Order: sequence, then structure tokens, then C-alpha cells
Amino acid sequence: MFKTCCSVLLVSLLPLQAHADGAQDFVTANIVSTLYHEFGHALIDITDAPVLGQEEDAADILSVVLLDAFWEEDAAQSITALTALSFELAAQENEEPAYWDVHGLDMQRYYNQVCLFYGADPETRSELAADFELPEERADSCVDEFNLAESSWAAVLEPLETQKPSKTIQFNGETSTEVGALLADEIRDLNASYHLPKPILVTLKPCGEENAFYDPETATITICTEYVDFLNRQAIANDL
Ligand SMILES: [Zn+2]
Repeated sequence: MFKTCCSVLLVSLLPLQAHADGAQDFVTANIVSTLYHEFGHALIDITDAPVLGQEEDAADILSVVLLDAFWEEDAAQSITALTALSFELAAQENEEPAYWDVHGLDMQRYYNQVCLFYGADPETRSELAADFELPEERADSCVDEFNLAESSWAAVLEPLETQKPSKTIQFNGETSTEVGALLADEIRDLNASYHLPKPILVTLKPCGEENAFYDPETATITICTEYVDFLNRQAIANDL
């Protein structure tokens, strides 16, 4: 995959790649989206950014804004497609929608992801919107939705760009694993773009649950290795 900024990450995202690479791309895409989502929670915490509506939605929105800003078109489209697929698979696995969950419903997250990403560049991304069956009535509002999302987050992100590069995001994890190396790369790129008012830590470690979360007490984003295993299992079970 290729980024417009900073590093070049060579993971196969070509359609002709073999089975194992498909699973790897799925894991990579979802770890990137999840890291950006948790980074959203961290920014809301340490910058005291005002959040109108659900914080979870704001974090999902940041994930798309960063994806659109940092990655070259082909890779950005693949990551979006594989993240949306993960929401769709989760919706199929959870037959009873969890209305009480603070996260949006999985299919809502699916359509929000596709709509925002499409709205950032509708001419280039109309095929993706069609592939993911974004309804036309929704597609009409996606450009406005993206513009609002981007300008809302710009108010938080732009002040952080004045003192870049920085080392305000630290990584604690094994970089010899693929996901560890991916996270270290992503953190290097985020540090190249943003100087946070307070340092945060990203850890990759076992935590006894298939999860990823931000803890404001310790200003730490934790990506559980069980979550990585879960993504791998989800990919293999669905023949990716
Ligand atoms: Zn969240």
C-alpha cells in the first residue's frame, strides 16, 4: 500500500494476490482504521475538543478523514472497502443489533464509512460507492457530510501541525510481528504530522479480550493481540 505522505508500506493490495495476502490485507486495513479511530478518542481527550453527538461517531469520522489524507487512492480505497466489509461481517455475526452499544450499529458504521469516503472525492470513488450499494438518496448528501467532517476535525488537527514533527506518540510493542511493524510505521507518520499537547502511548499486547480501546487515565491506546487474531479468523472464515 502506498501513502501520499511519509512512508511507503509494501503490503499487497492487488486483487490477484493469493489467499494469505487477502487475509493480511484485511488485518492491515482494519488495524489502520482502528488505530485512527482510537487516535480520535485520544485527541478528543487530550485536546478537549468539543464533540457534538456520539464520541464514537466522531472517532469513526476521524478514521476516514485520516485515511483520505494520508493514503494514495488505491490503498485508501482498499482500506475503506476492507473496513466496511468488517462492519458488514460483524452485522451478520450479531443477528440481534446491539441498540444499547455506544458504537453505531454495524451497518450504520458500514454506510457512514462508505459515504464519507465517497463524499471526499465522488468522481474518483463512484464505482466503490456502487460496489458497496450506497443508496442514491444517501449518496447525495455524502459530499456535504465529508466537508463538515473534515472542517470539524481540521479545527482540532491544524493547531497540532504547527510544531511537527514530534515524538509525542510512543509505541510499546514487538515490531518483529507484521502488526507491530505496521503500528510502528503508522505512529512514525502520525508523529511526522502532529505534535500532541500531551504524550500518548500505543501498545500492542494480549489483554484477554478481542478489543482495542483508549484509556484516558493512562493516555494509552491498546490494541489487543486477541483483536488481531479475531481479524485473522474473520478473514479466513470468509475466504479472503
Ligand atoms: Zn471507539
